[in-house]
Amino acid sequence: MRFSEIPGQTDVKRVLVQTVHRQHIAHAQLFRGAEGSAALALALAYATFLNCENRAADAADSCGQCSSCQKIDKLIHPDLNFILPVTTTKAVAKDAVSSKFAGEWRSFVLENPYQGLNDWMQHIGADNKQGSISKEESLQLLKLVSLKAFEAQFKIVIIWLPELMHPAAANAVLKLLEEPPPATVFLLVSFSPEQLLPTIISRVQPVVVRPYAEPELTAFLRDEHQVPEVKARQIAQLVEGNLGAALAAREAAADNDYFTFFVEWMRQCYGYKVDLILSKTDEFQKMGRENQKEFLQFGLGILRKVLLFGIDAQLVPHLPASEQQFVAGFSRFVHPANADALTQEMNDAHYHIERNANPRMVFVDMSLRIAELLKMPV
Ligand SMILES: [Zn+2]
Repeated sequence: MRFSEIPGQTDVKRVLVQTVHRQHIAHAQLFRGAEGSAALALALAYATFLNCENRAADAADSCGQCSSCQKIDKLIHPDLNFILPVTTTKAVAKDAVSSKFAGEWRSFVLENPYQGLNDWMQHIGADNKQGSISKEESLQLLKLVSLKAFEAQFKIVIIWLPELMHPAAANAVLKLLEEPPPATVFLLVSFSPEQLLPTIISRVQPVVVRPYAEPELTAFLRDEHQVPEVKARQIAQLVEGNLGAALAAREAAADNDYFTFFVEWMRQCYGYKVDLILSKTDEFQKMGRENQKEFLQFGLGILRKVLLFGIDAQLVPHLPASEQQFVAGFSRFVHPANADALTQEMNDAHYHIERNANPRMVFVDMSLRIAELLKMPV
């Protein structure tokens, strides 16, 4: 992660960069910010900057190109370690420690580094269980820091939500902060620093990450995620500075619009309403290429649900209530005889859009073929 990928936070980014240039790198730092803030993202960008192999004397960001930057970006750097709250799950039935969730953590952070504890618990399938950093984790941690860095200048240990440390784990961390191992930097990322031991607080350099202001979030959603201004402002008002929630709301809003668009479009195709299909084509054209592709992906997902529902409703147990009626009704027209061809149409359209074909022609062509396929007898 690079600093430039994180919206705003100019002051804190500058301070972090300066500590590296002046070689005042505190061996333990506490990134404190509310849930949904950029605290974790900034810690990751800082870790990337610290270990960047092409860092110029006046650089304000990591290069993003060197082997270290690339590995940290994918969260596969051997000297980048994470201690996380976890719990037993179906996949990890006992001895739950962070290292067993490395794959899940990677996909979680790469999807959206602004998410909260609850999102993480859902992501690992913890149901309603509480996550914590167990005392077993402290043994792992001691082993970890006793090793020298494999390839980087600094070994990095990111402790996400240290407020959830078991007292034994907290004591182990405290010992490490008191007698820090060489060339190791601890980055604690906390939503509730007031719950940390005062002895820990006194040993860490604070990095205060402020929540996002509404205009900042609005601009970010509008400029980086192509959310229309009015909707971007609505979302920004609702989420109270929580960037993670803003990104989730933006996705839900987009899905919602895609769903409405898809339902109307399928009705027009089935009714062979060519004039309506042509005005739908205008709407499709206006979406822009990225959204067109995303919409086709979304359409493929719905189509799959419709087909499965037709075979056996039990196969799609988590159907949102808003989609239920359409999926059930439409399943009468999607069947093994035309399902493959329908899927093929949308896949082909996706392929052509990606290769810069004229979206209008792709959409009309696909619509007319779909109209015929839907008339196909079971
Ligand atoms: Zn680099």
